Amino acid sequence: MADLQNLVILTGAGISAESGIATFRGPGGLWEGHRVEDVCTPEALARDPALVHRFYDLRRAALDMVEPNAAHHALARLDAEWPGDLLIVTQNVDDLHERAGATRLLHMHGELRSALCAACGIRERWTEALPPESECPNCGMLALRPDIVFFGEMPYQMERIEAALAEADLFVSIGTSGAVYPAAGFVQTARHYGAATLEMNLDPSGGSHWFEESRMGPASALVPAWVGELLGGG
Ligand code: NAD
Ligand code: ZN
Repeated sequence: MADLQNLVILTGAGISAESGIATFRGPGGLWEGHRVEDVCTPEALARDPALVHRFYDLRRAALDMVEPNAAHHALARLDAEWPGDLLIVTQNVDDLHERAGATRLLHMHGELRSALCAACGIRERWTEALPPESECPNCGMLALRPDIVFFGEMPYQMERIEAALAEADLFVSIGTSGAVYPAAGFVQTARHYGAATLEMNLDPSGGSHWFEESRMGPASALVPAWVGELLGGG
């Protein structure tokens, strides 16, 4: 590991599972009891804005009841102490990485505690309920929506992610099913540019065969152990 300098870490819903936030594909393939296509597409938002806004209002409110777990804390420690480049790319819309103290962090699928104006595009920190047709503080239009990247929409900061992957010496994927693209393809991009690859997940993911090394178990145990290997100490 002597020549290890640049790290890219992708996290998914699995890293927040032990904090008490349900993963995407729970029992029956539902997210908190809803079909993904009913709450996570532009069509759903157009068809039934009240349902979609209420769904994310509940997810946002639930953030008050959860705390970062040992895996978030370990990554925050790595972020603080790693001397080389590091980028944590999260697919999660919760705020547990930043509450643990991570700063070199990017939310590629948006954030629950943010509102997006469909008219002017501004993103505004939002911690309360967000009823449909809330007024945009920037342009005044009644066009605020949850700042969540729906299926069919372009994730945030793809150029920055691609650039980091091209420079990465090690790409690590934690708690993601490898089912949602483009994130599921990052391992192939990283390998293409010569990075080593490591997966940590509760069970083998759809993309497990792409990783050189796979560690199976709960993130709260695997991630602190791995960070300890990199930094030394506990
Ligand atoms: P996913 O639900 O499809 O997959 C989660 C993966 O984590 C599974 O492979 C599962 O085996 C694994 N896992 C479960 N518990 C774990 C644990 N304790 N330790 C390690 N791994 C564990 O989630 P995804 O791949 O992130 O894709 C889902 C999409 O859903 C994302 O785009 C995300 O925006 C959204 N989502 C976010 C949250 C959140 O912000 N916490 C929650 C649900 C869904
Ligand atoms: Zn606006």
